[in-house]
This record gives sequence, C-alpha cells and structure tokens, in this order.
Amino acid sequence: MTDELFRDDATLAECAATITTADERGVQLDRTVFYPQGGGQAGDRGVLRLEDGSELAIADTRKGSEPGQILHLPAPGQEALLQRLQPGQHVTARIDTARRRRHMRFHTATHLLCALVPHPVDGCSITADYARLDFHMSEPLDKEALTAGIARLVAEAHPVGHRWISEAELDANPQLVRSMSVQPPRGQGRVRVLEIDGVDRQPCGGTHVSNTVEVGGVVVTKIEKKSAMTRRVVLGFSSS
Ligand SMILES: [Zn+2]
Repeated sequence: MTDELFRDDATLAECAATITTADERGVQLDRTVFYPQGGGQAGDRGVLRLEDGSELAIADTRKGSEPGQILHLPAPGQEALLQRLQPGQHVTARIDTARRRRHMRFHTATHLLCALVPHPVDGCSITADYARLDFHMSEPLDKEALTAGIARLVAEAHPVGHRWISEAELDANPQLVRSMSVQPPRGQGRVRVLEIDGVDRQPCGGTHVSNTVEVGGVVVTKIEKKSAMTRRVVLGFSSS
C-alpha cells in the first residue's frame, strides 16, 4: 500500500521514494506525491528521477486493481528505462506542478460552486483546462450570477482545510455527502472531509488550494441542460 502524501499536503512537489514494483502496468512506490485519477480529478504527470540522474516520464497516475495501489504510468517509448527498474531502487518522484496547480484551483472552485448551487451533484470532471459539474436539478442557472458568486467567495479569502473522520461519524451525518455519483472511499476506517470555512463541507479525497483566494480568476464558461434533471456547469480560467 502506497503512502499517499498528497492527501495531507497537496503542496508537495516531490518526495524521495522506493520502488516496490515496476512492470508494463506501471511503477508502484512506497510513497508518492502523485495523485491518481479519482473523484473526477485527473491523475498527475511528472517524472521519476533515478539515482543515476536518468528520468522516467510519467504520463498519468491511476489507481490499481487492489485497494491502496497507485500506478505511475510511464509515457510511451521508455521501455528500455522501465526494464532497468527494480524493486528497492530509490527515486525522486516529482509532479508537473503547473498542471497540478490548475487541478487544485479548479477543484477548489467546484466546491465553491457546490456552495452556490444547493442541489446534489451527479457528475464531475476536473482537468487542467476546464472543470465541469453536473447538478441534479430542473431549474435554470444563471451564468453571470454564478461567475459573480465564485468571484465573491474567492475574494473573501476563506481558508481551505481538511480533517479525517471515522466511517461511523460519516454514517451518523449522511447530509455531509453532496455527490450522488462519487461515494467517499471506504474500507480504511476513516474518511477525509474537506472544509472551506463557512462555505462548504463534504467528503473529498482530491487536492485543493489552501485558501479560496488562490483559486484566482475562474469563470463559468457554459451552462448546459444535459437532461430534464441535469444542469451542467463548465468552468474555465479567466487568468493564469
Ligand atoms: Zn474536493
């Protein structure tokens, strides 16, 4: 099982780690700063730097078939380097921080959107170029009003933090779960709850900025009626 350093500190750009397995399915480490695709958020890219200075480019990060497995997926064309990797080798795992930063800004913005739209979420996708959130609702939504609402919550500079609660505590507070499509990961006895002071509180394992002011310029680029009971809100950056 990989130690998921990004869960407690999303600002970590790199870490020292030891290879536990390496084959064509991907590279597993004893610990990592790479976020595996999940909860709607895209997986990280980056490099694994070996002790001899050579670098294995990582194109994506995914969860493995076993609970707790994190697979670092090599970019194509690196078979020779991949074959040299052995369990026990030390590497420095470093993510593409500019890309991750965009995920963190968008991801935090989707929580602000949840606070502005009091309806269940039934779909979510967070990439480096856009984010979208599907709400289970039939009422129309106003693009300008939502963009202004996000800008207000960003300007108010709310601290963003998280805490761990027990699964029993979550079961006692079912109103915490806003999403119909993504259930909090279970089986580890504890669930991570994301808290934006006075704004939003829900189970979430993703990566976020530490204050809403760091979300910066995010606007609603599109609102789509996907079905009678689904309104899709698409977010984009207005500034880097
Ligand atoms: Zn989140």
